Amino acid sequence: MMATTHALLGVLLGSVSLFVAPELAPVAVLAGFAGGVFPDLDLYSGHRKTLHFPVYFSIAAVATLAIAAVVPTALTFAVGFFLLAAAAHSVSDAFGGGLELKPWLGQSERAVYDHFRGQWISPRRWIRYDGAPEDFALAFAVALPSLVLYDGTIQTLVVGAVLISGVYALLRKPLVRIAEWMVGQIPDHLLAYVPDRFVGDFV
Ligand SMILES: [Zn+2]
Repeated sequence: MMATTHALLGVLLGSVSLFVAPELAPVAVLAGFAGGVFPDLDLYSGHRKTLHFPVYFSIAAVATLAIAAVVPTALTFAVGFFLLAAAAHSVSDAFGGGLELKPWLGQSERAVYDHFRGQWISPRRWIRYDGAPEDFALAFAVALPSLVLYDGTIQTLVVGAVLISGVYALLRKPLVRIAEWMVGQIPDHLLAYVPDRFVGDFV
């Protein structure tokens, strides 16, 4: 799934705080957005392994949110919803496509790494690949409640994420052709610095 889909899901998860501590909702929502994006910062170094922790993020989120329920402060809410969104991101990557340059081909058996069991989780492909039409539909559906619930900065952030999702979904396949052309221009001795999936070593 797209980083923006994860971010918008993080916003929705953060919105749960409206029911328990509305004054802390802005903190929770922004933390959810950041936590939704965070795991994909490993895009160029061990993608879906270095910063993706389906089990550990989940445990940490439950523990932190339990503390936040007892001690509701900006800090506990920020950490709790950041971890919850990062956990949702890491787990939901298992329902997307595999870790390959053209995930719509369905050749990779690596969706996300489970550090707890020490193995890759295979892709379920409910969302066939990041930027697929169904990925954009999910991002839009997840964003809808937030568009109604908020105005100002948060609404702008949500609208921006939806727009980026739309542009990315439209350009997803052409972007791969551009990436392939660029990798073709890189001298052999520099290919070691290119992420594996761009040079075909992904399965
Ligand atoms: Zn991810």
